Amino acid sequence: MHLTIVGSGDAFGSGGRSNTCLRLDCSGEEGRGQTLVVDFGSSALVAWHKLGFDSNEIDAVVLSHLHGDHFGGLPSLLLEGQFVSRRKKPLTIVGPEGLEARLRATCEALFPDSWSNRWSYPLTLIENRPGHVTEVVGCKISVLPVDHPSGAMSRALRIENGGKTFAFSGDTCWVDNLIEISDGADLFMIECYSGQEAVPYHIDWPTLKANLPRLKARRIMATHMNASAYALRQDIIDAGVLVAEDGATFDL
Ligand SMILES: [Zn+2]
Repeated sequence: MHLTIVGSGDAFGSGGRSNTCLRLDCSGEEGRGQTLVVDFGSSALVAWHKLGFDSNEIDAVVLSHLHGDHFGGLPSLLLEGQFVSRRKKPLTIVGPEGLEARLRATCEALFPDSWSNRWSYPLTLIENRPGHVTEVVGCKISVLPVDHPSGAMSRALRIENGGKTFAFSGDTCWVDNLIEISDGADLFMIECYSGQEAVPYHIDWPTLKANLPRLKARRIMATHMNASAYALRQDIIDAGVLVAEDGATFDL
């Protein structure tokens, strides 16, 4: 698996970073290369094009939770496929229970009558839950609940493909499910929203630092950082944690 960090920012564009969007190039069915994207926040399509990517390269999107900075770019992606990039190949979106209703409401709020389109490509929505492994584009996806109110279950994700494992916390305060979801992962991206101060439903650096010995991932990368967390960048790196940057690439 090959990771490209399209967006690693918080909801507010701190540090000029784009909303969450993580591109995973995977070995798909019958050895074909396929592209799974983790989260597609409001600014994701802009960041995607800035890197020179074509949205037709996306085979599937898996969502950690239904906040705008993690799924708000989907209406633009769906409509771009219809009217601009003339998408023909299937698109699969995996998210929590309630995904279809929230996506329909978001599309209708931003682009009225868009949901009544006949999509020019097969669009499949999969609502998955903990305890089930969802197989999409050659990837095994499992989820565990985290603590971050978003109108549907917010989840941490584990994605296995080609003998490698990628894990992602989504947004959450510290919960022990983060230990299980990242157990033995080649890379665990974990939100570290704030520096010294505690922020509800998010992780601050002292909390992450205290829990590092409990995490059993091969590499850990902090993401979704606000300005106060970014001010501690060197401390974070000195503790052996990578810091996500938009545009960075990574072989798992
Ligand atoms: Zn959130």
